[in-house]
Order: sequence, then structure tokens, then C-alpha cells
Amino acid sequence: MAADNLRELYAQIANCRECDLAETRTRTVPGEGRPDAEMVFIGEAPGYYEDQQGRPFVGPAGQFLDQLLGSIGLRRQDVYICNVIKCRPPQNQDPLPHQIRACDKWLTSQLALISPPMVVTLGRYSLARFFPGQPISRIHGQARRLGELVVVPMYHPAAALHQGSLRRTIEEDFRRLPGFLKAATHEEATAEAVESKQMSLF
Ligand code: URA
Repeated sequence: MAADNLRELYAQIANCRECDLAETRTRTVPGEGRPDAEMVFIGEAPGYYEDQQGRPFVGPAGQFLDQLLGSIGLRRQDVYICNVIKCRPPQNQDPLPHQIRACDKWLTSQLALISPPMVVTLGRYSLARFFPGQPISRIHGQARRLGELVVVPMYHPAAALHQGSLRRTIEEDFRRLPGFLKAATHEEATAEAVESKQMSLF
């Protein structure tokens, strides 16, 4: 059901012309992964390789993301991966506010269809969608409850790839994800223990 609805959504995204990026994109990059994923990873915007292939995180940052997922026993097909905006900005510029606004309905629909217990934000644009104005340096690697959803902000893998100290930080933050997920889902008894040890909820 969610799978069919996601496919329908991808078709709508492919026809989207609501901002200027429709003029310059090669392909839309809606997202991919399990329609019933427990973890949804949200990056920033497609880059060159993503724009060519129509798939998220398939360039160098994506290879690092695959490694990070592997470090906690997951493959990309076990989770769901997408971006704040679905089209590549020319020359990989930062997404502009009007582009983010125009694209937000697609991400909102994706989250409604998948309905994950946990979202992992990768980088500052996806962090800002959930916690505007919060500095990533202060809240990365912490689980925060937002209504029904647990949101875990992380550094962007591309930034971490180029900076040794951030690389170690993102690797350590990733190792906390399985515990956060347990706390966010049904395993109540364990969850309480994990929560009191690892979670900073507000
Ligand atoms: N960086 C992102 O934020 N998203 C991608 O899909 C690729 C690189």
C-alpha cells in the first residue's frame, strides 16, 4: 500500500515544475528504500551523480553513508533515504529558501506515507526543517522527540568525509542509532533503560 502510494508520489515529483530547479535538473531524485522503514535518513539536495541516476546518495557521500549503515548492520535497502529537495541545484549551490518551501510538500507526503518512528537528519538543511535555529555542533548525535517522531541530527556525510575529526564524530553518532531506535519503538523495557542512558528528550 505505502509502496504503491510512494510510486504514485514519485510520478508526481517527476512532473513537478514548482521551482526553477525544474529547468536545470536532469532527473528528479525522490528517494528510495523500504516503504515501511523504521529509519528515514534525510540529506540536503541531489549532487551530480544523483541528478544523473535519479537516486539519492550514490556519489562519494553516499558511499560513506553505505559504510556508516554497514557499521550498524544495515544496508541501504533496510532504511529509507531522501533529501530535503528533490532536484539538483546547479553547481551544487546551497538550496535556496524558495526551493525548500516549494519542495517541502513532497517530504511531508513521504514522511506521512512511511510514518517512521525515527528520522535521522544529515546536515544543516534537514536539521533546520525539524529544529530551525539549532546549531548542529551542539545537538548532533542526540535523540529528540518531536510529537510521535524521534529525530536524530547528524553531520552531513560529505562534511565528515573531508574532515577527520567530524568523521570520527559521525561514526560514533551512528553507533548510537540502534539504541535510539529501540527506545523509539516497542521495546518498552529496554527502551526505558536506553532512554535514561542515551536520550536527551524534550
Ligand atoms: N548529498 C545529499 O545531501 N544528498 C544526496 O543525495 C547526495 C549528496
